[in-house]
Amino acid sequence: MFKVKFWGVRGSIPCPGPTTAKYGGNTSCIQIISDLGYQIILDAGSGIRDLAGFLLSNPEFKKPLKIYLFLTHTHWDHIMGFPFFVPIYIPTSEIDIYGPVTFEDDPLEKVVGGQLTYRYFPIRFDELSANINYHRLQETQPTNPDTILNLPGGMTIKFKYLNHPVSCLGYRFEYQGKVFATCYDHEPFANLFEDDPENREEGQMASDEQNQKVAEFYSGADLLVHDSQYTTKEYQKYKGWGHSTYKYAITQALKGGVKKLALFHHDPNRTDAQLESLKAEYEGKFSQFGLDVFPCYEKQEIEL
Ligand SMILES: [Zn+2]
Ligand SMILES: [Zn+2]
Repeated sequence: MFKVKFWGVRGSIPCPGPTTAKYGGNTSCIQIISDLGYQIILDAGSGIRDLAGFLLSNPEFKKPLKIYLFLTHTHWDHIMGFPFFVPIYIPTSEIDIYGPVTFEDDPLEKVVGGQLTYRYFPIRFDELSANINYHRLQETQPTNPDTILNLPGGMTIKFKYLNHPVSCLGYRFEYQGKVFATCYDHEPFANLFEDDPENREEGQMASDEQNQKVAEFYSGADLLVHDSQYTTKEYQKYKGWGHSTYKYAITQALKGGVKKLALFHHDPNRTDAQLESLKAEYEGKFSQFGLDVFPCYEKQEIEL
């Protein structure tokens, strides 16, 4: 069994309310459900709070909990739920936290744990009772098998740096011949020499190559979760903030021969009505290319 469940699909900040109730207002959190006997969680946005309740109340999940938590990056919307993730307060929990590090003297432990000081929260980091270990991740090098992570039972994970204002990783999970990949928070690599006629062509080649590499990273994925925070018009205004448009996500998914594309990291201002019309617009539109495109919603489950 290899299933993906969304617990938070929103970007930037939680946005509960009547206009977001259907797709959900929680920030990034994705659960991988499998028969492996441990939990794999991607990102600790505000959605992780509900996931904790689900894990602790559901007898289907073996206790004590063994959890692998992968952080795409440490922007606030991807770690803000961590202090509310109840398993960190349970002494029998075993939690391995993986993620990229942007600055050498700011290890993952410090960035994530830094939220747990009296300044921000009533419980301090060293009061957490679970057994928590932190692991720094770097991009997978094709020639170095040590840069691929193999979890017990045959789950293989590869990593790719994306284009975002801090170190941010895309993930590629492979299990039982199925592939689940993520590419958020990310925006297209741009030509750095756009305004320099002498080097423009070379700059274009370089950025095309980088974007091609990203598509290759998730090539053949059964499910790709891609950043799609903006419309094309909005992107003109927010270029450089590290997010993509729907159209770019689709172009890239087609390039990579992806089967299912979940549009993700919805803008906090995007309403249910807007997402519903997006869903209607793309439903069946790319079926001749074997691609299914849809905006994902909270609590949605997808079997791979
Ligand atoms: Zn984000
Ligand atoms: Zn971000």
